[in-house]
Amino acid sequence: MKIIFFSAQPYDREFFQRYNDSHGFELVFHESQLNEKTVGLVGEADAVCVFVNDKVTAGVCDQLFKKGIKIIALRCAGFNNVDLEAAKNLGMHVCRVPAYSPEAVAEHALALIMTLNRKTHKAYNRVREQNFSLHGLLGFNLHGKTVGVIGTGNIGKAFCRIMLGMGCKVMAFDLVANKELEAIGVSYHPLIEVLKADIVSLHCPLNEQTRHLINDETIGMMQKGVMLINTSRGGLIDTKAAIQGLKSGQITYFGIDVYEQEEHLFFRDLSGTVIQDDQIQRLMSFPNVLITAHQAFFTDEALGQIATTTLNNVQQLIKSGNLNNRAALLV
Ligand code: NAD
Repeated sequence: MKIIFFSAQPYDREFFQRYNDSHGFELVFHESQLNEKTVGLVGEADAVCVFVNDKVTAGVCDQLFKKGIKIIALRCAGFNNVDLEAAKNLGMHVCRVPAYSPEAVAEHALALIMTLNRKTHKAYNRVREQNFSLHGLLGFNLHGKTVGVIGTGNIGKAFCRIMLGMGCKVMAFDLVANKELEAIGVSYHPLIEVLKADIVSLHCPLNEQTRHLINDETIGMMQKGVMLINTSRGGLIDTKAAIQGLKSGQITYFGIDVYEQEEHLFFRDLSGTVIQDDQIQRLMSFPNVLITAHQAFFTDEALGQIATTTLNNVQQLIKSGNLNNRAALLV
């Protein structure tokens, strides 16, 4: 059984090799993204293993199928980058890792909030240069603030609990209210109400309903001075609208771990190159913007769970033809 990995980083090799002992699969790692240009790299194999920025379009599915690939194993939760319909029509299985340490992502959202608020990234550099002034480092207490959470699935739930622990009032919007969260003090409201919170954090998936959920109109519904956090998917935010919101002062803090055009940038060292993406350059020029390069999942616990679940998904398919972690569109 051979699995070909795309967008493979050194840590993917390390964790997948560590957890492959009990499976004994042959693992082949490619650094390149999977897309219509690179699909030719796929030789004889049974499965491909892909990550968030691989582009598994209908054309790619078609090519994979012609090469005998039956399984597309996502080593992530989101599956917006796979044409599920095309894969299904070809009889291919698409599996994912529905939950891997949701706390890892929720805790990273808190890290973005705390860094933007208390400016520890600026303080660190300042003190190293023997500048002990507090000028410009003023923050606010999180205690007592309202936090709006959009999407209360695995990660949103963990995030709600963290924010309740910080003494915040947590308001949420989801298609389905979670009774467990309501019991501990989270209140559900229409989106328009949740957008009025002091801090708005996005935890819903990217799909046709949620693409550019945050746009000129919804930013206009937020309170002036809002802190907006996105650790979910870049496409949830219309970047142009966010830049406008930052320029007008409507958004006072903007923390993102994901970015609309991230597939051209993230997960590689571009420090010696000229970045052609003017939007990210504009975002990086704001003093109140904090960008991390899709690292919210990046903890030891989460990588272990990703490797274990991905390999188990493939094993389950081979052994029984069943799949618990099938990627499926909500209907
Ligand atoms: P999940 O499926 O457990 O939860 C998603 C929630 O969003 C569900 O409760 C669902 O009902 C809700 N939802 C769906 N459509 C909605 C809409 N239109 N409006 C409001 N809520 C809606 O997923 P999860 O594990 O919590 O992950 C959430 C997202 O986080 C993933 O889709 C993925 O894109 C992202 N993610 C990012 C990282 C990272 O490293 N930055 C890591 C893992 C996941």
